[in-house]
Amino acid sequence: MTIQITRSSMPDLEEYMQEISVLWENRVLTNMGIKHKQLEEELKRYLNIPDIVLFNNGHIALEYAIDAMELTGEIITTPYTFASTTNAIVRCGLVPIFCDINEQDYTMDASKIESLITDKTSAIIPVHVYGNVCDVAEIEKIALKHGLKVLYDAAHAFGVTVGNKSVAEFGNASMFSFHATKVFNTIEGGAITTKDARLAQKLNLLKNYGLTGPESVEYPGGNAKMNEFQAAMGLCNLKHVEGEILKRKAVVERYRENLSGVKGIKLCSEKEGVKSNYAYFPAVFKKYKYSRDEIFEKLKAEDIFSRKYFYPLTSTFGYFNGRFDPNDTPVAKLSADSVLTLPLYAGLSMEDVDRICRIISA
Ligand SMILES: *Cc1c(COP(=O)(O)O)cnc(C)c1O
Repeated sequence: MTIQITRSSMPDLEEYMQEISVLWENRVLTNMGIKHKQLEEELKRYLNIPDIVLFNNGHIALEYAIDAMELTGEIITTPYTFASTTNAIVRCGLVPIFCDINEQDYTMDASKIESLITDKTSAIIPVHVYGNVCDVAEIEKIALKHGLKVLYDAAHAFGVTVGNKSVAEFGNASMFSFHATKVFNTIEGGAITTKDARLAQKLNLLKNYGLTGPESVEYPGGNAKMNEFQAAMGLCNLKHVEGEILKRKAVVERYRENLSGVKGIKLCSEKEGVKSNYAYFPAVFKKYKYSRDEIFEKLKAEDIFSRKYFYPLTSTFGYFNGRFDPNDTPVAKLSADSVLTLPLYAGLSMEDVDRICRIISA
């Protein structure tokens, strides 16, 4: 039987129907209706953050945050991410400056940031890849010293906590994605979290044409609102998210039992004090008896779909026309050439995990 890389979490159909039934009475389908308001409140509580602004998807949220934060010039970021992070920077007319990642958890190598700062740098956009938390303390120190803003791409990090802190508490703002494939989904959707009430207020205006009243427009905003059906899906999924994370945890632990200690396969190490959301299971095949691409093909031959995530590096995208040299970020380059994320979702059976691991080792 086919095993996909992921499978969206969904509530029971009855539960969703109950959640949306009121929409047939009030006929308010979007424009920050009751579901939108309720989801905001529940997410603020869940993510332990004073302000959240919901969007129709995570990528758009990132672009709106870059705009609202008035970032200019050069942005220090990482090439080891999904296209969205880099594309958002470029689409906002800014220049990405690519910082290498570290070998332990594939997040930005904070020790390499300062050498990339110029008088044009306005911000750092690091990525909590796979839900692994960046070196937030060091990044904050550098940002304060140089007067830079920090916007985290936290698309992978929903529900992650560090000590007693929510991952949403770091930096000036964080972007979360609620895409169907993420740990928590609103079908499509996303959010910006922040402790900066003025930034939140500005984002709330920007996502609705900048309208401050029926006859007044304060900013040249667009339309990036989350609708009521998305918010209702979020309300249902949020009730089950802790259970879904526990099911993912069981899958990840089974992979670890099977694969840790195998010569040539490197797994992410767990960080002390960090509560993971088990968003992805990356395995790095360096000096293993099969190359990453061979493992990918072996699995595919059995109808099992893994993903070269992240490959290629965003700095090598065609639209850059060779402007950036991937050898300038050697750890990112080597990781992109040897990483494979394995199928992972709540409800993937232990038998399937064992079968995937047998194919990898055979
Ligand atoms: C999914 C994702 C995004 C974009 O989120 P969407 O909600 O799909 O638009 C951005 N960055 C990363 C790292 C992602 O994985």
